[in-house]
Amino acid sequence: MAPFDINKVKADFPILTETVNGQPLVYLDSSATSQKPQQVIDRMNQYYQHENANVHRGVHTLGTRATDGYEGAREAVRRFINAQYFEEVIFTRGTTTAINTVAHSYGDMAVEEGDEIVITQMEHHANLVPWQQLAKRRKAVLKYIPLQPDGTLDLKDVEATITDRTKIVSVAHVSNVLGTINDIKAIAKLAHDKGAIMVSDGAQAVPHMTVDVQDLDVDFYAFSGHKMVGPTGIGVLYGRKSLLNKMEPIEYGGDMIDFVGLQDSTWTELPTKFEAGTPLIAEAIGLHAAIDYLEAIGLDEVLTYEHELTAYAYEKMSEFEGLEIYGPGPDKRAGLITFNLAGVHPHDLATALDSDGIAIRAGHHCAQPLMKWLNQSSTARASFYIYNTKEEIDLLVDSLKKTKEFFSYEF
Ligand code: PMP
Repeated sequence: MAPFDINKVKADFPILTETVNGQPLVYLDSSATSQKPQQVIDRMNQYYQHENANVHRGVHTLGTRATDGYEGAREAVRRFINAQYFEEVIFTRGTTTAINTVAHSYGDMAVEEGDEIVITQMEHHANLVPWQQLAKRRKAVLKYIPLQPDGTLDLKDVEATITDRTKIVSVAHVSNVLGTINDIKAIAKLAHDKGAIMVSDGAQAVPHMTVDVQDLDVDFYAFSGHKMVGPTGIGVLYGRKSLLNKMEPIEYGGDMIDFVGLQDSTWTELPTKFEAGTPLIAEAIGLHAAIDYLEAIGLDEVLTYEHELTAYAYEKMSEFEGLEIYGPGPDKRAGLITFNLAGVHPHDLATALDSDGIAIRAGHHCAQPLMKWLNQSSTARASFYIYNTKEEIDLLVDSLKKTKEFFSYEF
């Protein structure tokens, strides 16, 4: 049983009444992007209908409404992740832009030839390619913490990989493929012990659990609004104020300047220094509504419910002959299951499930080095969120059975 009213939650998401191929939609692809409740849609409509103006400069009433909405969203994010200062919350286009900002701005400032950047092979490309390219620009060394056979990290390996030459450690809080929940607090301590900074990709964590950046003691933390019942086009870079103050912006233009001369310019204070141009106003306001929505349910309740769903799915899918699950057991994983069914290509599988109205993801999940580690070119992934139920998992398993029979038919 959900620790909240699951029927009410389901009813909040208008898209869940869609039918797909004549069947009621079963949406099991929230790790790619979550669906949006009416409350978020209404809040963004209200903004466009009653508050729309540019922020920070208009002295008219609408300008004040828009600025209040935008800065109110920043304060909501600050509280949500327990950042100490509002200046530590930078709005970005998403996790990808947030990590690229750190790699360019902090990375180009702090990393020198021969220094090390430490990541893992379970990273999404968004937390891998920016570091790879930084390493190439600065002639630094990109090192990987080895994975255990079940797709978890052993802290002894983390400790052994980080050295006095390590400047940056960047690890996903939750893997989008293996579902592994990494002990970011412990890894941050090991990074700091060697004088490195700690970055974490929280794209798959923030939507599903309480995240406290001060408790984790991370220096930078990134996440996306669209995976947490908010709109696309908005994300957050949390950064420690003392570091952000030392860093150069990576984009220049309106809003972020203090004084502009013919040959040189100076920058304004945080957080605007990192938000050049007209910001993502409606999107930030939509993200605020998403935070209000998740907080009303309670992030601890979200985690408990998803854990229950995942344990149920894991048990049923483990019993399924020919189905291989990747990653750790249900106790160490978040709400997603990546798998392959022997004899059926994941793309065929996803297409067959779609004909039953079930949406799952198939492919490399933007994690090609991890696919290499798994020795798979592609996998299928079912991911769960607050609006999914055990009945939907039963439908998934029934559809998998049907698909297996269809593909094993011999003429
Ligand atoms: N990191 C992880 C772990 C993800 O799952 C994703 C989204 N699939 C990203 C980064 C990138 O997020 P976005 O596309 O919203 O920038």
